Amino acid sequence: MRSGADYLAALKGPRRIYLDGAPVEDVAHHPAFAPIAKTIAELFDLAADPESGISVTDPASGSTVNRLFTPPRSREDLKAYREAATTWARHTHGWVGRSPDHVGAFVAAFSAHPEAFSQGERDFSANIAAYHKRVLEENLYVSYAIIPPQVSRATTAHAWEGDLIQAGVAEEREDGIVIRGAQMLATGGAVADEIFVSCIKPLGPEDADFALGFAVPVDAEGLKLYCRRPYAPAATSEYDYPLTSRYDETDALVVFDDVFIPWDRVFVYRDVAGLRRQFFDTGAHVFGNWQAQIRFMVKTQFIAGLARKVARSTGSTNSPAWSRNSVSWLASRPLWNRRYWRRNTPRSRTRTACGAPVLVRCTARWGCRPSCTRGCWRSCATWSAAACCRCPPASRT
Ligand SMILES: Cc1cc2nc3c(=O)[nH]c(=O)nc-3n(C[C@H](O)[C@H](O)[C@H](O)COP(=O)(O)OP(=O)(O)OC[C@H]3O[C@@H](n4cnc5c(N)ncnc54)[C@H](O)[C@@H]3O)c2cc1C
Repeated sequence: MRSGADYLAALKGPRRIYLDGAPVEDVAHHPAFAPIAKTIAELFDLAADPESGISVTDPASGSTVNRLFTPPRSREDLKAYREAATTWARHTHGWVGRSPDHVGAFVAAFSAHPEAFSQGERDFSANIAAYHKRVLEENLYVSYAIIPPQVSRATTAHAWEGDLIQAGVAEEREDGIVIRGAQMLATGGAVADEIFVSCIKPLGPEDADFALGFAVPVDAEGLKLYCRRPYAPAATSEYDYPLTSRYDETDALVVFDDVFIPWDRVFVYRDVAGLRRQFFDTGAHVFGNWQAQIRFMVKTQFIAGLARKVARSTGSTNSPAWSRNSVSWLASRPLWNRRYWRRNTPRSRTRTACGAPVLVRCTARWGCRPSCTRGCWRSCATWSAAACCRCPPASRT
């Protein structure tokens, strides 16, 4: 399996990454991206370590591959997947939202349902199978951009003034398509190997030019990434900023300045119904977001643990206020986790060949995330109170 060092070496290609209007010369060494690139490299090394339980033998090729890029086909597979995803998430305390396993789960689910890619005018099922094989063999970090830029939410892209604002087909050629326009919002895109580009928001029949699904290398000619302002360069030390100095992924607007995509990288082409099949009939949306929930569980445990440590340090855990506190409830009841996972792992029959968790429960839990995060942080702030102000900075320790 590709190691962390191999991954870092691959970042040296001619990428067109822009930060505050200026081009970034070398992402692997730039202060905005070096910390997250190092973290991703650590994840790849962890996956390659046989002790981690993340690697698995691919029955098709006999090679060792990343389990988190394979579609689970049974309850046992799903359990092994969850344990591997938890191990990966724990390495970042759940703070890397778009680690390689997120889009890896989408691609795995696509591959489990090639029939979803053969129902349009062209049959792309072989393309998705070949792409999944490549992701497995090369152990790739794929990010995604699947949201239209914010122009008008009152209409869809066909009605927007101007030429191809949302990424769309500028030209169809014998050997592929030329893409022009922009798509949001590739988290981790600057340090990924490839970007999967599509549109998860519903489109109408007039939007066929924008109804696409394809993969593009980050260093493709004409591809530009405009990143949001990063936090990592402001982190003056790991001691003072243990999270920012490791996990700032940055998000990027992806701009296509007439980017050529060969046919073998296209999975959905001018097919509005195909977009829906791709995300929902394959179970990819559920499976990918299940990965996100596993990661989120780890993050919640981290914040809850932090709150408990803070409260313990001031001897506050015996107070009635603490026992009423939502974080104390989370932290003191690990059974909550077990019950949650039991409910969300299919018992006898899987919904799809990919073994995606039960849709409704998965989506309901997903909807609870923002309030859960806010509640946990509020608790941390409540119990820390003035403590942050009395902590010595790294320079004084
Ligand atoms: C930190 C971060 C990371 C992200 N990472 C990724 C990523 O890796 N890949 C990716 O593809 N995307 C990513 N996204 C994009 C994310 O998926 C979108 O932000 C999300 O789908 C909402 O889309 P939007 O931001 O364009 O908001 P909008 O869809 O424009 O919504 C803005 C507001 O308008 C409302 N609204 C929207 N449509 C209508 C309507 N028709 N009528 C009335 N009200 C409406 C919404 O409810 C909302 O309140 C990320 C976003 C963030 C903030």
